[in-house]
Amino acid sequence: MLLKFSWMNLKLILAFFFCLTIVFAKSQPAQADHEKVEGGELTIQPITHATLVLSYNKKNIYVDPTGGIDAFKGFGAPDIIMITDIHGDHFDTATIEAINSTDALLIVPQAVADKLPATVNKEKVVILKNGDKTLPAGISITAIPMYNLPEAPDARHTKGRGNGYILGIGGKNIYISGDTEDIPEMRALKNIDIAFICMNLPYTMDATQAAQGVLAFKPKVVYPYHYRGQDVNTFKSLVNAGDKNIEVRLRNWYPGSK
Ligand code: ZN
Repeated sequence: MLLKFSWMNLKLILAFFFCLTIVFAKSQPAQADHEKVEGGELTIQPITHATLVLSYNKKNIYVDPTGGIDAFKGFGAPDIIMITDIHGDHFDTATIEAINSTDALLIVPQAVADKLPATVNKEKVVILKNGDKTLPAGISITAIPMYNLPEAPDARHTKGRGNGYILGIGGKNIYISGDTEDIPEMRALKNIDIAFICMNLPYTMDATQAAQGVLAFKPKVVYPYHYRGQDVNTFKSLVNAGDKNIEVRLRNWYPGSK
């Protein structure tokens, strides 16, 4: 009886540590990258899938925040929240309401503005169309198109609805693709220092198409993100076969899953 009891205890203890490991692994995002830029340091923190935090001079920029408040533990409140599109992996009203976004500026396309929760202070919402630019707190933000090819009214991402963004921070240009294919507007980009490039089918593009798009505009550094189901190692070898000077940064955007 005593032996059986001990075995039960041991099993329970093991189960407890197993669960703890899972919870711990889930709550650990990839390590941040630090870039020296004019006027300070830019910190790049992948969170998950399409969600990231950029920090510069004590300003926090949350890009497509999802995952609830737990995903942003340890970060200061957002100063700027940028949202690319209406789909749940980019725009999550529960997360926006959960994080301390009272003082944050929200940079959004009209389609997202139309669906913002009523609790959001409308005076803090900046609506950008493709091509529009704004300059909050010395950071320039330009909205650029993101859409599926060929263009079609029933495409998952129609041209003009969502925004990719180019941020100018400390003399560096940072491109966040949003959900897109290798559209001419991406291929024509110039002087991009850091690019976040989506892939995953059937919503955006595969690793090969993404690599071809990247080789057309040659950013100095590229992060494949939003890549669920795609082989980022294939992406990296294709990019580097075309241009060995492009630094492809593979980070774990899916902490807690294999
Ligand atoms: Zn998406």
